[in-house]
Amino acid sequence: MTDISVSQNVKIVEPTVYELSSVGRRGVAMPASDVPETALPEKTLLRTSLPMPELAEVDVIRHYMHLSRFNYSVDGGFYPLGSCTMKYNPKINEDTCRLPRFIYTHPLQPIETVQGNLALMYEMQEWLKEISGFAGVTLQPAAGAHGEFTGVLMMAAYHKSRGDARRTKMLIPDAAHGTNPASVGMLGMSVATIPSDARGNVDLEALETACDDTVAGMMLTNPNTLGMFDENIEKVIKLVKDCGGLMYGDGANLNALLGIVRPGDLGFDVMHFNLHKTFSVPHGGGGPGSGPVGVSQRLVDFLPSPLVTIVEEGDDEAAPLYGFFTPKQTIGRMKAFHGHFGGGLVRSYTYIAMHGAEGLKDVSQYAVLNANYLQARLRKTYKIPYDRICMHEFVAEGQFEGSDVRALDIAKRLMDYDFHPPTNYFPLIVHEALMIEPTETENKDTLDAFADALIKIAEESLLQPELLHSAPHITPFGRMDEVKAARELVLCCWLPEGYDLEK
Ligand SMILES: *Cc1c(COP(=O)(O)O)cnc(C)c1O
Repeated sequence: MTDISVSQNVKIVEPTVYELSSVGRRGVAMPASDVPETALPEKTLLRTSLPMPELAEVDVIRHYMHLSRFNYSVDGGFYPLGSCTMKYNPKINEDTCRLPRFIYTHPLQPIETVQGNLALMYEMQEWLKEISGFAGVTLQPAAGAHGEFTGVLMMAAYHKSRGDARRTKMLIPDAAHGTNPASVGMLGMSVATIPSDARGNVDLEALETACDDTVAGMMLTNPNTLGMFDENIEKVIKLVKDCGGLMYGDGANLNALLGIVRPGDLGFDVMHFNLHKTFSVPHGGGGPGSGPVGVSQRLVDFLPSPLVTIVEEGDDEAAPLYGFFTPKQTIGRMKAFHGHFGGGLVRSYTYIAMHGAEGLKDVSQYAVLNANYLQARLRKTYKIPYDRICMHEFVAEGQFEGSDVRALDIAKRLMDYDFHPPTNYFPLIVHEALMIEPTETENKDTLDAFADALIKIAEESLLQPELLHSAPHITPFGRMDEVKAARELVLCCWLPEGYDLEK
């Protein structure tokens, strides 16, 4: 038995597939070969034997089914992980992304044979432009952070094309997600941190002081990670533009704005979409992300190549002919082939098509309503440091006077009530932060049950604090030593006894 727990207080052992293995058990029937058998070239062999576990299909299914029950999932329960938009992912997305004609296309096929795929990509570009108010969209980036990197590259290319080489400073609010400064750092640019004011807006005075002719631009999440829509957004954008900078919008929080505000109309020059957040691509289990980027008119020539376009307009008789084109001053290719087509684009295309314009607006309105409902229910029990009407999420303080209970303890105790914990200790500007994003897909009963649990936990923190310090109690694994897990990361598989990888 292999000890796969990192827990301090609980030890759980799970047999591996090797331990379940028994010589001669079979779970697969290989089809007869339709090509002649040939030996592999000796020189290319990495090893001479490879022990494989031998199990019947039913053993394998039960093993993985069992392991899967250790996971918490959106399909299993409420998942209010702030900033991550863990909405329910409609299952129709799964049907469409598995359509054989999508599955069996290859990115190197002649373009006449993949017109359907290109049509979907073209429409996706157009829809994202319409939703965001931008002039151009690339579908290539693999995730939000990759979109940020792509966007910042375009900003740098824009300044360079104008001979403006001094612009290497990026303004980033202190509420920002860590990927923002990381993306900027990857390009060797410097970061100037802009504080937030008491209402959770960008501090205008600090911004004004930081604005000079070395500013490449500003990366702003709006609504920000406190769930606050910046009340001075137009002034912020004007200050940055007046000093010659470009405005980058971190679109991770677009779920609050669909059909209500378009970042392009506000004056943003570039923004990434997180299709896996706003447009219901499953995430959190390592699945494919997708981070398309939209740009304003002055950046369209810098978009990654290729983009999908209509080569020949269609008419009553014929469908349009789609193809690729290369923007004039393109920063180049950001991803092999065309981004995450099936897992990302087809799923979110389906989501947008199913909702339509009115439906998307509903999504945002219910997301904001749900967050405000929860905030209102918790306000009396939990301190909300930036307490005004929130957008799709809000941040509470996970500590109480006269108690040594911390946000982490509250988060872990929530697991005993069968809820996924909120994001904790982020954003950094809130002490003992609990960042709660319910999303639009939850009904009032679920929101009430969650609020009741948090209120009960607040009572427990005074009466039975040890219950919180040692939580969770009912999960297959107890409290993890997260520092140890990060410092002594073990990713290697278990190997059968006596087996030497080198041989
Ligand atoms: C999720 C998130 C990102 C990064 O997006 P990924 O798709 O995870 O790379 C950036 N900013 C904010 C505010 C986010 O919530």
